[in-house]
Amino acid sequence: MEKFELNILGCGSALPTTRHFPTSQVLNVREKLFMIDCGEGTQLQFRKARLKFSRLNHIFISHLHGDHCFGLFGLISTLNLLGRTAGLHIHSPRGLEELLLPLLAFFNRQMTYQIQFHEFDTEVPSLVYEDRSLTVTTIPLQHRIPCSGFLFAEKQRPNHIIRDMADFYGVPVYEMNRIKNGSDYVTPEGQVIPNRLLTRPSEPPRRYAYCSDTVCLSGLVGQLKGVDLLFHEATFGADNAPRARETFHTTAAQAATLARDAEVKQLLIGHFSARYEDESVLLKEAADIFPHTVLAKEMLRISL
Ligand SMILES: [Zn+2]
Ligand SMILES: [Zn+2]
Repeated sequence: MEKFELNILGCGSALPTTRHFPTSQVLNVREKLFMIDCGEGTQLQFRKARLKFSRLNHIFISHLHGDHCFGLFGLISTLNLLGRTAGLHIHSPRGLEELLLPLLAFFNRQMTYQIQFHEFDTEVPSLVYEDRSLTVTTIPLQHRIPCSGFLFAEKQRPNHIIRDMADFYGVPVYEMNRIKNGSDYVTPEGQVIPNRLLTRPSEPPRRYAYCSDTVCLSGLVGQLKGVDLLFHEATFGADNAPRARETFHTTAAQAATLARDAEVKQLLIGHFSARYEDESVLLKEAADIFPHTVLAKEMLRISL
């Protein structure tokens, strides 16, 4: 199966600790890298994970809090030092370009590559990226400032040709694409060979949902329904539920309830508050409600 792999580079929250880096992840879809948030230190973690800068063309920023974007400027500068020429696309809520341009003008007068800023609305789900095999759609969240999550959805791939059968019926090469996409084959003698004899279905498309800083929104159940992996912030445990409400964050139990209701296959929790020395308490609270829960951790890799 082709690669669809999540790399955790950082899973702490705003206050720096020695245990965690602030938020950043990289989704590897068939060797194209998609960065999601870029907290301080992300470029070091990126190298540590042995990911390739040349494969990174798109960065998605959920919101303009420092723990999700302070790493951008360093990363952009390093790519310049490395002499990058390919354009870099940065998708974010409004305001990022305005913030970054003066810094870039001062420190990186000679840019070797172009940055293209794409701003999205955080109120409604919108398609922010599409290629032959993948779409990325925003997930509207509710935080202290405009904030979105992202849904990465693989497209349904064409069926696989059963080689032996295609040879048996003498299917010519120029018919293969039509057959992969569902057509029957008609022989020169007019005999119809049904598609099901010539192909087997491709694997079901995979989906990864990333829910950044937010109050827990039960309204997301529809958009998250059945995803293969849901990352959801779980900044606090039940002991700090009032604090979670005040700061527009989620508790581990709330994240697990959402995962259960949306019938996701696996839940990954992160964005841990610095007050938890040991996050196993958060894991326990979540797993009591939704057993398929794992704790995020730097350098964790999950293949879907
Ligand atoms: Zn945060
Ligand atoms: Zn935040």
